[in-house]
Amino acid sequence: MPGHIDPRGAIDLHTHSSVSDGTEAPFELVRAAAAAGLGTIALTDHDSTAGWSEAFAAADETGVRVIPGMELSTNYGPVSVHMLAYLFDPLDPRLLAETAEIRDGRLHRAERIVERIGRDYDLTWADVLAQSVDGGTLGRPHIADALVAKGHVSDRSAAFQSILHWQGGYYEKYYAPSPLEGVRMIVAAGGVPVLAHPATRGRYRVIEEEAIAELVDAGLFGLEIHHRDNTEDGKERLFELAAKYDLVVTGSSDYHGEGKPNRLGENTTAREVLDRILAAATGTTAYPA
Ligand code: AMP
Ligand code: FE
Ligand code: FE
Ligand code: ZN
Repeated sequence: MPGHIDPRGAIDLHTHSSVSDGTEAPFELVRAAAAAGLGTIALTDHDSTAGWSEAFAAADETGVRVIPGMELSTNYGPVSVHMLAYLFDPLDPRLLAETAEIRDGRLHRAERIVERIGRDYDLTWADVLAQSVDGGTLGRPHIADALVAKGHVSDRSAAFQSILHWQGGYYEKYYAPSPLEGVRMIVAAGGVPVLAHPATRGRYRVIEEEAIAELVDAGLFGLEIHHRDNTEDGKERLFELAAKYDLVVTGSSDYHGEGKPNRLGENTTAREVLDRILAAATGTTAYPA
């Protein structure tokens, strides 16, 4: 297929594979991006870089350019804040240790959630493991898939609106660094941090301006404003913040394969913005560079 992809095609900077909670293997995800006519995608699995090399191989096959990335989990008090990280050194010891700790915490937290759900529904830990890739980043989506397989809910979204809802009675937090620590670690690893979907409802609600200013001082580079989960009011506020603090504005699908309705390329990022991200990064290069 090389040659069929326009290298100047659209840019989608936030996608997930089965290395975390997407439903397609990294190579399938890159093929899906090619089929959708995209020129560039960032692979941003939760707390893991395990899909990078497979995605690069699929970049060779398809001609789609892959920006290696990750969506780092952070906790801002009770609020879960996701930090996109692009083009950092995948062997940076601090980031490796931190993401290993987050994944381990997620695993044990998922076990506890399943243990408690198992008192009320027919659901075992083995059911959940059957829905995930070995060594992948476990999350509620895998528990959702197990609940679907057992016939307790119709799909992931239904699971998140009921049993897995953060106010649904079974929710538990998991360890993650603060957003400030996250930004510092990403920058120290030569990467470029962009705050993911900063204006959503519920558990991922907006963090206040002082906190964002602090992140900017530490090297925050951008805000993911064009994202289906940001509220319209929130987007307006984010555009003001981006202008005030000279932050780039990104857009993305946050594609999870069949795990979410989000479609590849439904929101995209301007080429000048990607160029600025590429110029700011020192940890590694895009593939192909
Ligand atoms: P966790 O990090 O384990 O608490 O699970 C949160 C993840 O679940 C997010 O990264 C989303 O990708 C996914 N998620 C959240 N809401 C939904 C939903 N309604 N349908 C499918 N996936 C969802
Ligand atoms: Fe996810
Ligand atoms: Fe996210
Ligand atoms: Zn995401």
